[in-house]
Amino acid sequence: MAAGPDVVTEALADIHRRLGALDEGEPAAYIPELARARREGFGLALVSMDGHRYQAGDAAEPFTLQSVSKPFVYALALAELGLDEVGRWVGAEPSGEAFNAISLEQGTGRPSNAMINAGAIATTALVPGATPAERFERILAGLSAFAGRRLDVDAAVHASEAATGDRNRALAYLMRGAGSLACDPLAATDLYFRQCAVRATAADLAVMAATLGNGGVNPVTGERVVGERVAVQVLSVMATCGMYDASGEWLLRVGLPAKSGVSGGLIAVSPARFGAACWSPPLDRSGNPVRGTAALRELSERFGLHLMLSP
Ligand code: GLN
Repeated sequence: MAAGPDVVTEALADIHRRLGALDEGEPAAYIPELARARREGFGLALVSMDGHRYQAGDAAEPFTLQSVSKPFVYALALAELGLDEVGRWVGAEPSGEAFNAISLEQGTGRPSNAMINAGAIATTALVPGATPAERFERILAGLSAFAGRRLDVDAAVHASEAATGDRNRALAYLMRGAGSLACDPLAATDLYFRQCAVRATAADLAVMAATLGNGGVNPVTGERVVGERVAVQVLSVMATCGMYDASGEWLLRVGLPAKSGVSGGLIAVSPARFGAACWSPPLDRSGNPVRGTAALRELSERFGLHLMLSP
């Protein structure tokens, strides 16, 4: 984006002001603790590749990552094992189905991609470590490096999902039966529930997104978190699969790699330009945040960010 800092600050403030009035959708309730979310909570944040940070509204309010954790744990697995090995366990095709669909690829038994629940559980199962605690520490340390500060877990949300997450446990057992899960199903789902319950703010998510857009180097801390090749691989899967069964429409209208989560978080990346994040709990029918989707669409149109536009 060739726009200067004041223009970006003004754009975020303007989008925040106008979309605050958009009161559609419902916060997720199938994880009981998430139903307590403040439906009017709304934060926007953006981080440029030179580490400038911009925000509007509730950008400092913490919420749980949920599915926004998926691209980052995919990045950690790719960094450890490489695309060929990770690809033995999880595919890279859009599923065209809901995020919690009970389906695996015919023939291979793999989940379609790492952005839906089945694929994310399979990916989490690949993160190495001698014990579950060690493996989770690796995930938390990795997510924290993307954010540039030590993140923590919302214990109440973790407990709430662990108590109600039978569908995800069923998916894990299905994958185990199909030979596409690298570890014990209950261990894999508990790690996955913990990763989903990691707490961050929209300001943090913008740094995490910017790190992917900056070839794997955190633009605020200067730390290399993953290699450039891994960052490009993750952005590619986000572009085709990050918004579940709305991914095609998203690429058409917004044109940026993105990932949403059921707590209302949403990230989008303009490679080599910036990472953006939004938090607003009400979701549409695909499980994507209503205000976040509208906000990123506006930002993309206003600054001509669609990937298919020539520079
Ligand atoms: N933890 C949530 C689940 O597995 C994440 C889903 C999401 O954010 N779409 O159902």
